[in-house]
Amino acid sequence: MELIAKRPNGTKDMIPAEAHKWHTVEHIASETAECFGFKEIRFPMFEETGLFKRSVGDTTDVVQKEMYTVTAKGDDSFTLRPEGTAGTVRAVLQNGLLNDALPLKAYYIISCFRHEKAQKGRLREFHQFGIEMFGSKSYLADADVIALAQTVLERLGIKNTELNINSIGCPQCRQKYQDALREYFSAYKDKLCDTCLSRMEKNPMRILDCKSEICSDIAKDAPIILDYLCEECNEHFENLKENLTERGIKFTVNPKIVRGLDYYTKTVFEFVSNSIGAQGTICGGGRYDGLVEQLGGQPTPALGFAMGIERLLLTMEAENCEFFAPKTCDVYIAAMGKAAEKKTVQLVNLLRDEGYHAEYDVMGRGLKAQMKYADKIGSKFTIVLGDNELEKGTAKLKNMAKGEETEITLGDGFIDRFSDMLIGDMFDGSLGDNLF
Ligand code: ATP
Ligand code: MG
Repeated sequence: MELIAKRPNGTKDMIPAEAHKWHTVEHIASETAECFGFKEIRFPMFEETGLFKRSVGDTTDVVQKEMYTVTAKGDDSFTLRPEGTAGTVRAVLQNGLLNDALPLKAYYIISCFRHEKAQKGRLREFHQFGIEMFGSKSYLADADVIALAQTVLERLGIKNTELNINSIGCPQCRQKYQDALREYFSAYKDKLCDTCLSRMEKNPMRILDCKSEICSDIAKDAPIILDYLCEECNEHFENLKENLTERGIKFTVNPKIVRGLDYYTKTVFEFVSNSIGAQGTICGGGRYDGLVEQLGGQPTPALGFAMGIERLLLTMEAENCEFFAPKTCDVYIAAMGKAAEKKTVQLVNLLRDEGYHAEYDVMGRGLKAQMKYADKIGSKFTIVLGDNELEKGTAKLKNMAKGEETEITLGDGFIDRFSDMLIGDMFDGSLGDNLF
């Protein structure tokens, strides 16, 4: 078969047979966020290009190399969101949400777009579950956000992860640190890649995040930010570490984490999965105390994280985590003849109104083929309706797992009788664990 169009490089289809895996992650993540007091926010898939340049930062890989920027006739320049924080902050400000009770807590499940080299765990369209919290400068907020990320991972059944944390200070401490970095890297001017050379003046911390082997080798012995933290940043970091320890959250301080986005201040953190190889960062986050003001709001401390859903799924598959069982058909009604067909549609509608997953033949198949199909889709019960059954007003309800048949009266009260039988059969395990 010659396809007219193929899916773009770096994108994936979610096919119906995989839907239960996505639903597992989306459901557990959002329920957990709700437990921590977060509510869902939705915002556009594209924003004015300037929003990302300003927030993510124009010396970052994301802005320099990875944005999908579009202009339609006569319009300004728009960019498909490469991440969720910028859009959230913009939406929070535009809707005046910071005038309400603080902290403001929002979560999202979104698609993101980055023009990267596609590989396992690195896509051009990917999905994030993310949360943002506005209004608190306390280390308790940092600890709570990290605890939320950890709880999501735990509830998904993911075990083999490490939490790395660091503090990248505030603009004050960073100034001294950047001077130290410039001095260190200036000795390697002839070896650094062109991008890093251009970052030397404006943002030498970005060199620490360069993926080129030579640059990251040079960066190994670079000065570390923790030696340059001001008193306030240092105290914040010490309190955070103490609080995480009190909560029993294990972490490693990794002074090399700077994160790929410019807006971070103070705390940054990553959860890395050891089960999926090179693209192992399944969650990245931190504080961004300057961003709200930078985007035109009142100075407001804020923080958040984002998890890559595809990487979570890869990890769950690698660790054999359990997914919600895919929903299967509760009852399939096989019909023979025109009169039976009419009654079947009527019964199926009653069942569906009651919330059951009920099906019947829409393919024009014979009885045998209908039963084969019912078996193939794993229907828990089947009913066969023909002229005989219509005449008697009763039919046989078959529990497919047990092979047992019971008589069921079709007239008034059918749904109640069906529910009673289902509940009766529910306790012997033959119906599986995905009944409701
Ligand atoms: P990486 O270091 O792997 O490039 P990042 O620092 O660019 O990640 P963030 O911008 O912090 O990542 O995004 C948060 C999370 O989104 C990452 O931890 C990862 O799980 C996921 N993610 C980022 N980029 C991609 C991508 N291209 N494909 C799939 N998932 C991604
Ligand atoms: Mg990246």
